[in-house]
Order: sequence, then structure tokens, then C-alpha cells
Amino acid sequence: MSILETICPLCGNPSLRGEVCGRCRAKETRWIECPDRIRIVICPTCGARREAGTWSDFTSSRDDLVEELTRRAVRLNENLKEIAIEVSITDISPNRSRAYYRVTGLLYAVPVEGSCTVEIEWKKEQCDRCSRISGSYYEGVVQIRAQGRRATEREISEAARIAHEVEDAMMASGERLSFISDIEEHRDGLDITVGSQRLGQEIAAAITRELGGRFTTHPKLIGEKAGKQIFRITYSLRLPRYSRGDIVVVSGRYAEVLRIEAKTIRYLDLESGLPKSVGEQQVERRAGHKSEAKTWMVAYRDGDLLGILDPETGITRETVAPRWKDIPAGDSVRVIEDGEHLVVLG
Ligand SMILES: [Zn+2]
Ligand SMILES: [Zn+2]
Repeated sequence: MSILETICPLCGNPSLRGEVCGRCRAKETRWIECPDRIRIVICPTCGARREAGTWSDFTSSRDDLVEELTRRAVRLNENLKEIAIEVSITDISPNRSRAYYRVTGLLYAVPVEGSCTVEIEWKKEQCDRCSRISGSYYEGVVQIRAQGRRATEREISEAARIAHEVEDAMMASGERLSFISDIEEHRDGLDITVGSQRLGQEIAAAITRELGGRFTTHPKLIGEKAGKQIFRITYSLRLPRYSRGDIVVVSGRYAEVLRIEAKTIRYLDLESGLPKSVGEQQVERRAGHKSEAKTWMVAYRDGDLLGILDPETGITRETVAPRWKDIPAGDSVRVIEDGEHLVVLG
């Protein structure tokens, strides 16, 4: 083998089989490239981002987003190995940011170092959801009322909580147009205005699952769009006359409502501790709700009698101990007051 066959034809340094050496190849290669500028379209109201015509919510920070998007824009030669990237992002103005990349690696076994700057143009545009909300767009209303009575404050706040949980879950799963546009307390209950029919359906189902009752749907034709009929739906929800956690009187005895199945009430007899069922019509009256119970200390026990300490007045009052629970002195019990009566809960 002659000497010409073992040196690089470009630089004359030793090279295997006389090929262009790694150093020369690395010098000749444009191994890092990036666009001068990328544009990021975001909604100024909610921060959603539009990409390829589709809006989506993102949960990462603005810097993380810039890093992710610009990193995708930086193109590195496939022969670059052992890559290390440092990025620094600076905001130049409210509408401009700059991402500076410093990249090191091995190209044809030769250490290389390079940099790249991408300017980010922030474009603000109202997203599909925000423009629907600001345009008062809605597809349905969930109307929550109670059977034969007014919905209680507790039911109203529970229903609102459930509705927001369903909304959050649907948003998290990517249904970004499933928003609640309005929640309004009505004289007899609650009206929840929803941006999508799926959300209305899901909210009505979740509330009846947790609070009992049932709902019916009433579509109303409101117009036509591109040959398609457009409906708005009213989800008319009726909470049952009695609800879970209610303390009621059945056959002269106190009972806690466990659940409602159509017109049948499943309850816990607070005297015997046994679960029982009764038709809704046979419930004498409602005495309160378990959430209204206060904690009373048991001062003494005398056979079937409990001396319990009123947490508000400090006065000891006597009541009959439930037979199915062992409640020694020193324990505490949950009690609701029904007129003169003290009801010890399970
Ligand atoms: Zn060379
Ligand atoms: Zn938005």
C-alpha cells in the first residue's frame, strides 16, 4: 500500500484506506439546522394552543412548551452521537421569545459544538371554546328540582360540585367543548347551562347516581345548520322526595335513608340498627339530615340511658342509647335534634 492510500486527500493527515478523514467530514457537514422562526398560536383567555388547525389544552408551562416545540424544530445530523443540548429561553417582548440551543456531540468520532437560535412569535387568537363561551353558545340546560319540595342548600351545592367534577373529567379527557357556561340557583333548585349535550347527559346521570331521583330529556329544535337540525336539550332532573342521609320518621321510629330505588326507600332503623325498606308514601316525615349532626360527648351511661353533653350549652341531657351499639362513657356520638328529641345516629 502506497503512502497516498493511507492519508486524507483533503488535509493530508493519516486516514484509513485513504478516505476523507473524520475531521474533514465533520467540517464539511452541516450537522445542526433550525428554522429562524416558529409561530405558536395560543388563546389569550384560556391558554389553549392551536396546532394544525386543532385547538388543544396543554398543562405544561410556557417555557416547557417553547422548549418542546423548538426542540422538535432543531434538526441534527443522524450521525451525531452522544448529543448534549443546553437551551435557554428569553422573552424579548410579550409577543416574542427566543430559544438558544447549544449542542455538543461526536460527529464521525470528532467532538463538535454548535448553536442555533429560534425566534418564537406568539400569536394570540381566541380559541373555539372561548369564542363559544363569549358568544353565549350552549347546547343544553340541566334543570335540577326536587319532587314535591324545594331542593335543599346541601343538594344544590352537591349538584354543583358533581357537575364541576364531571366537567373537569371530560375536559381532562380532551373534550374541550364540554364546558359549563353558567350555573344559576333557581327558586326551586339549580340550572346548569352546558356547552355540549354529552356534558349535560353525563352531569344529569352523575347527579342522579349520587343524589337519587331521575331525569328525562326534552329536545327542542332551534334551527338548522348546513342541512342539519340543531337541538337544544333540557335535562329535567327530579330529586327524590327523600334523599340519602336524610333522617326520617318511619312508623314512629327514627331512620337514616341509605338509598332510594324508584319509590322504595332503603333505610337504617336507628333503634334496631337493621337495614329495612319502605314505600316512599309510608315515610311520616323528614326530621333532618345527617350532615346537620353535631358531636356530643357521653358523660355517663346508666343502663339504657345515655347522659350526653350538649356541645353548645355544656348541659347534660339524657337520651335512650341505641340498642345495637356499645357506647360507653367517654365516647362521643353524632346527634341531631328533632324538636325536643335527641336522635343518636349510627
Ligand atoms: Zn482530512
Ligand atoms: Zn380559550
